[in-house]
Amino acid sequence: MIPKCDYHIHTDLIGCADKTMRIPAILHKCGLLGMESIGITDHLNTLEQLPIHRRIKERLDQEETALEVYFGVELNFTDLDQGFPYSQKIRDEMGFQFAIGGIHSAYGFAPDKGKCLAIQHRHHMKVMEDPLCNVLVHPYWFADREFVQMDWFTDLSVIPPAWVRELGAASAETGTAIEINGCSFFHNPIYSRRWKESYIEYLKGLAQAGAIFSLGSDAHNINQLSAIQTVRAVADELNLLPERIWRP
Ligand SMILES: [Zn+2]
Ligand SMILES: [Zn+2]
Repeated sequence: MIPKCDYHIHTDLIGCADKTMRIPAILHKCGLLGMESIGITDHLNTLEQLPIHRRIKERLDQEETALEVYFGVELNFTDLDQGFPYSQKIRDEMGFQFAIGGIHSAYGFAPDKGKCLAIQHRHHMKVMEDPLCNVLVHPYWFADREFVQMDWFTDLSVIPPAWVRELGAASAETGTAIEINGCSFFHNPIYSRRWKESYIEYLKGLAQAGAIFSLGSDAHNINQLSAIQTVRAVADELNLLPERIWRP
């Protein structure tokens, strides 16, 4: 039985999700979807966003709900080969209960297959080794404006199998989970059907290498929360034992 959880949800408060993602509406909708445990994970791209996260925590503390609700955060690198704007001190002062994170840019190398992929893999491995980050988010996702420059990226078979094994083994070793993401890929029309099928093959390769997985819708709109059901169906297809699915 795949757990009824979603550990990648954005709110309207930081400005990347739309107005439908008010916290009470999110809790209501997740309840309707049968979820039992969820995590709110708005972006932390710069330290200037910390006061907004403080407000998000205040709002969460005010809500009464039958759901298990965690206060999380989604980390992004401050620049190419730079770290996350995050530390143990920030975690403890803010009360973040978990962190997910990953690379969110091709850093200008979108047309260059070799450089682009190497940058992504290097950062994926960096996340695996970061003891403060619990989950690697959406490996090989790119923003639309970058993805359209990648005529070479027809599906995930372009990823060297040795990198898939290396990432999966690192997950097994460090306990850092790799995300099965709903909205970035499966519910994103810019990725072809072939690409989405190859994403499942990619996840199977990671699973064979011993990876553990986190389930996340990555919803930015209230209707996108249902993408978690696709994620759960994929997790089911991977035949994962319960201990291979990450919980905060
Ligand atoms: Zn992200
Ligand atoms: Zn996200």
